[in-house]
Amino acid sequence: MSTSSYETTRRYFHEAAELMDLTPNMRRLLLTPERELKVQVAVERDNGEIATYIGYRMQHNKSRGPLKGGLRFHHEVNEDEVLALAALMTWKTAVVNIPYGGAKGGISVDVRDLTPGELERVTRRFVDEIHDVIGPDKDIPAPDMGTNAQVMAWIANQYQKFHGFNPACVTGKPVELHGAAGREEATGRGVVILTRELLARNGVELEGARVAVQGFGNVGSHAARYLQELGGVVVGVTDAYGGVWNPEGLDVPALSGHVSDTGKVVDFPGSDPVTNEELLAADVDVLIPAAIGGVLNGENADDVRAKYVIEAANNPTDPAADAVFEKKGIFVLPDILANAGGVTVSYFEWVQNRQHFKWEQARVRDELERIMVDAFERVWQIAKEKRVSLRTAAYLVGIGRVGRATVMGGI
Ligand code: GLU
Repeated sequence: MSTSSYETTRRYFHEAAELMDLTPNMRRLLLTPERELKVQVAVERDNGEIATYIGYRMQHNKSRGPLKGGLRFHHEVNEDEVLALAALMTWKTAVVNIPYGGAKGGISVDVRDLTPGELERVTRRFVDEIHDVIGPDKDIPAPDMGTNAQVMAWIANQYQKFHGFNPACVTGKPVELHGAAGREEATGRGVVILTRELLARNGVELEGARVAVQGFGNVGSHAARYLQELGGVVVGVTDAYGGVWNPEGLDVPALSGHVSDTGKVVDFPGSDPVTNEELLAADVDVLIPAAIGGVLNGENADDVRAKYVIEAANNPTDPAADAVFEKKGIFVLPDILANAGGVTVSYFEWVQNRQHFKWEQARVRDELERIMVDAFERVWQIAKEKRVSLRTAAYLVGIGRVGRATVMGGI
């Protein structure tokens, strides 16, 4: 049986808490979610039938600022997963030192089953249920798996019906509607900035490095594109339907075009098919899981041959796999650092909305670069000093900041 998502994040928390000598009371305080909201989302489908879904907003910790985190629309969304993802947001915003707490939400629905009209009704209905607990100073949702800029636009619009114009109530909006230039690429771009730093620290150039990417959604596709721009060789990509392989390197922009046309990476001209298992076990330098959680586990961790695993997805590595990687000397760049570029540019969007002042994309990219490099530097130093994994080091930084804010603020 694979470990539950929440159990995984608790385990990683305790590994760091142990080194910090955190008391049991403090651990309980930092692990207990502040509020768990579970709501009915009932809508009329195009054929007149009523469909009922379950929606969640889990608010884990707000000692460093308003709650922040994405909304996932996916058929596998459940309480355990959303709770785990909310906790990850608490540590993630602390690792990159942006002034937020951590939350996450979602709806257990298969978006592939919904027409655009149905998706809009589901989204608005969900906002009807949660609008009182979100807001620019309370809790700011954003995109995650199954949601995008259009969904965020509907959220802002529906929120406004209750509370008046306030685009800072949600981030990841379309650029034409108070969104930030560069938000969509931000998670993938951050992943690549950090990969570059990690390789450099080990005396390896990104140029010429062979990379496999699992997942070609918003995160995987932008990461692959930027990797290639910096000279990385993207040899394999998989998605939910299959995978493509080319030892000379896939042409990423052309692959994106193929996905826009067909909806899948398979049958990309000039590539060979590859399965998910083959991709995870491929002889590459860098492996980037950029899809769902739990994909690297006790069953397949021994097969991994990459030297660097970059967790673009949330929670892709379970504790059994993590232990194997540590023993084998594989560097794992943990999710709470690796994919923090997204929430970092969400922060820039929120700042711009609040100041009614628009930044150029170049400024967004420069500030993202600075924050990611600073966070990497801090985590790398702690890992060296304490002789711990990058994951434990990131948790030490995150828990330390949240813990200090909690103590200074008082309960
Ligand atoms: N869903 C993204 C994450 O897991 C982004 C969250 C945000 O921008 O608030 O980090």
